[in-house]
Amino acid sequence: MLIVMKPQATPDEVEAVNERIRSMGLTPHSIPGAQRVAIGITGNKGALEPDVFVSMAGVADAIRVSQPFKLVSREVKEEDSIIDVGGIPVGGPEVMVMAGPCSVESKEQILEAAQGVRASGARLLRGGAFKPRTSPYEFQGLKEEGLKLLAMARDATGLKVVTEVKDTETLPMVAEYSDVLQVGARNMQNYSLLEALGNLRKPVLLKRGLSATIKELLMAAEYILSRGNYQVMLCERGIRTYETMTRNTLDINAVPVLKALTHLPVLVDPSHGIGLRKHVAAVARAGVAAGADGLIIEVHPCPEKALSDGHQSLSLPEFEALMRQVRGIGTAIGRPVA
Ligand code: PEP
Ligand code: MN
Repeated sequence: MLIVMKPQATPDEVEAVNERIRSMGLTPHSIPGAQRVAIGITGNKGALEPDVFVSMAGVADAIRVSQPFKLVSREVKEEDSIIDVGGIPVGGPEVMVMAGPCSVESKEQILEAAQGVRASGARLLRGGAFKPRTSPYEFQGLKEEGLKLLAMARDATGLKVVTEVKDTETLPMVAEYSDVLQVGARNMQNYSLLEALGNLRKPVLLKRGLSATIKELLMAAEYILSRGNYQVMLCERGIRTYETMTRNTLDINAVPVLKALTHLPVLVDPSHGIGLRKHVAAVARAGVAAGADGLIIEVHPCPEKALSDGHQSLSLPEFEALMRQVRGIGTAIGRPVA
């Protein structure tokens, strides 16, 4: 249920509604809007009776939320959520680009990548330090050393750092060094990890699972919001289909569908989405054209030598060309690329 307060409702009236919700053993979630406050309720097993709230002072309406996901839904919050990543707004009027190598490999590699992607317009630096690889014999990341190198690259360039957190054990360490905690596709339904992220107050980039539906992605995000962390960005990174010519099938449909269902920012990862360097730019253009709030792109100073995902990583000149192209798309649809 969603309680919509009148625009002139006083803080005391809002608190009285919160208190009524708590007295029922449920959790209120205040959702401030431009015009008025709304209060989402979680914890109820069945439908709630609207009359209990409609009669209270300051309440405009009590609406049943028809979707199984609540706090992430546009029914509960109409306006777009803008996630503030250390002063960089994701989900606002501008399209934000995150770029960098799949894995952090060395000081020279991450610095060169960071300086290069910044020069072309990226505002955030991606790079994995804890890598969930399909084979246990593949490079697993530099771990804490990699996190330190990312922090060093942030200091050197001003780019904010996005890096994957693989499990609850390493979460405190990854949170200490990073600005955005990335949940990988393989972990989208790791509920202990989602709950732990919900207890933090730090931006999260939640990637869609390899075989997850749009609804399952939204429910996974709901786990994080329901614990009070509202700073969540969603990412379409391709799903598994019968197609074998490409690594995954980027579900472009997910972009407008998610944008209609949720107020959270929606990003597109064309690198994992198609998995082929020469086609990454085309899919990035499609993502922006479809309404994505941002892109996350794998870029390596020397893709042939990359320790992971080199086949889908762009060189710095290729990334620069991609940025030029997506700026053109952004201009055409009235959505500037930052
Ligand atoms: C990555 O971003 O390098 C990554 C492992 O992505 P995904 O979780 O989408 O496979
Ligand atoms: Mn990768």
